[in-house]
Amino acid sequence: EALYRIQGWGEPYFSINAAGRVTVSPKGERGGSLDLFELVNALKDRNLKLPLLIRFSDILEDRIERLNACFAKAIARYNYPGVYRGVYPVKCNQQKHLLEDLVRFGKPHQFGLEAGSKPELMIALAMLDTLGALLICNGYKDREYIETAMLAQRLGQTPIVVLEQVEEVDLVINAAKQLGIKPIVGVRAKLSTQGMGRWGSSSGDRAKFGLTIPEIIQAVDKLRSANLLDSLQLLHFHIGSQISAIHVIKDAIQEASKIYVELAKLGADMKYLDVGGGLGVDYDGSQTNFYASKNYNMQNYANDIVAELKDACAEQQVQVPTLISESGRAIASHQSVLIFDVLSTSDVPFGEPEPPKDGEPPIVWNLWETYQSINTENYQEAYHDATQFKEEAISRFNLGILRLTERARVERIYWACCEKILAITRLQDYVPDELEDLEKIMASIYYINLSVFQSAPDCWAIDQLFPIMPIHRLDEEPTRRGILADLTCDSDGKIDRFIDLRDVKSVLELHTIKPGEPYYLGIFLSGAYQEIMGSLHNLFGDTNAVHIQLTPKGYQIEHVVKGDTMSEVVSYVQYDAEDLVESIRQRCEQALQEKRITLQESQLLLQNYERSLGRYTYLSPQSE
Ligand code: PLP
Repeated sequence: EALYRIQGWGEPYFSINAAGRVTVSPKGERGGSLDLFELVNALKDRNLKLPLLIRFSDILEDRIERLNACFAKAIARYNYPGVYRGVYPVKCNQQKHLLEDLVRFGKPHQFGLEAGSKPELMIALAMLDTLGALLICNGYKDREYIETAMLAQRLGQTPIVVLEQVEEVDLVINAAKQLGIKPIVGVRAKLSTQGMGRWGSSSGDRAKFGLTIPEIIQAVDKLRSANLLDSLQLLHFHIGSQISAIHVIKDAIQEASKIYVELAKLGADMKYLDVGGGLGVDYDGSQTNFYASKNYNMQNYANDIVAELKDACAEQQVQVPTLISESGRAIASHQSVLIFDVLSTSDVPFGEPEPPKDGEPPIVWNLWETYQSINTENYQEAYHDATQFKEEAISRFNLGILRLTERARVERIYWACCEKILAITRLQDYVPDELEDLEKIMASIYYINLSVFQSAPDCWAIDQLFPIMPIHRLDEEPTRRGILADLTCDSDGKIDRFIDLRDVKSVLELHTIKPGEPYYLGIFLSGAYQEIMGSLHNLFGDTNAVHIQLTPKGYQIEHVVKGDTMSEVVSYVQYDAEDLVESIRQRCEQALQEKRITLQESQLLLQNYERSLGRYTYLSPQSE
């Protein structure tokens, strides 16, 4: 448990059972659990191949319940005379089945949706059927966007058009005049409170979205002149995703609540404060302000927002607003687990090399002597010596003085030196700088049946950390340390940064793979943003996905969403599978006529080709 820190990031959904496997408890503390390894095997028996994305609808429900419960508790604790009406930002994960579940689970709390673009608005308008739930309309807008949102009021929905750009003020005023509809309008403020970390630039004067204070005043004046100041009812801000430090949230809410109160005093009919996203996920389980973690929990978050707002409103005798948050990551991350298998491994040569024999070149003897002398006193010096001998050997080889077999001997003994030195450094409190990379250099490579670009793009694009671990054999000591190399022929297609306590480690503790037996790993907490940002690099397509729901007797498979076939991915780049088959058939015919292929061979080729096109884009491991 300690190795993978599962207790830190996994509670209450993921833990390790007595059989040494990951257990999933989708309802959290409310009971019911599944052995993930058994579940994967049961799904494989239904012809669902890996990589496989497993969604646990109950986790999604639990996240929604938790968020609402935290705000309800904070509201009760501080006697806040208002309510909380959360919305889910569709951008975080737009998959239809997920959104259907979300709207359904959110109904008791009048949970709404947030659209960040025109296509997302289309989805949100059609999917949200909860009476009284809010539909926050963010993102860049044109006339059509604004009109559509306003007209949705006539359908009984509560769309709030949030002004993100100065130009949108006139668009809203004109649309309101022409349609004869009084819109509900919000304004997104560029707070001076700067978010921290990766998404820190989402706030501040130069942020991409939102209005500066002078622009907000200008918008207020324009709306007043158009007799629409009472339409302005919401203040929104978003200081960035994954806010790790609670003080940043406190500062932001302090600034925003002052702006809110002032807008009410200027005559706007203020009713809502929308605090945006930012509620973090503890990816490494350290509960710190490290970027992959957060130094607060959901309750602290709700408490700080509610308390600050109550005080600010009371001070100025302004009615408190209905509170809105747009938490995406905190709602959608936990519900999906991506399971993938290891295809093969590559290790640096381990173990004792053979001693040199008479007639071997002096450099082999010298290196051997270094190897034998390594101890806790001299390991740093020995590393320099060994490296120097190895470099010298390569120069000699390039000059034609050293034979290939002799170079192989040198490299073999060199790796043995590194192995010995690494074992010593692992026992030291302090590791000298030059030896820090040794762990990485000596790491085994685990070739995984996955595309990082498709399934965990943030690992590649922004060095995001996700918990990754084997889902079985956890009662066995993992004797290897490795990095993960994906299927793409791109050297960036690898994962070599893993969670550690408040830090990042370059290798993951893994087991040796056993011939004929599968070895499954899981990427956890990756349900937010990854699926839609994933790309078709090397034409590895969407993975298979299943929705699992707990039942009193176990579980049921609610939906199966088959991953892309090769025909599908090639069609994204305008190839028609039938045309491709026809082209190969014609080539076969020609080769047959020229007697370059037998009829049997050509039939086999065509059969394989046609069958492949209808298949999954990932590999079938040897063990199957
Ligand atoms: N609201 C807005 C305006 C956003 O831009 C984002 C994402 O960055 C979110 C909400 C969701 O943020 P998070 O996933 O941190 O909850």
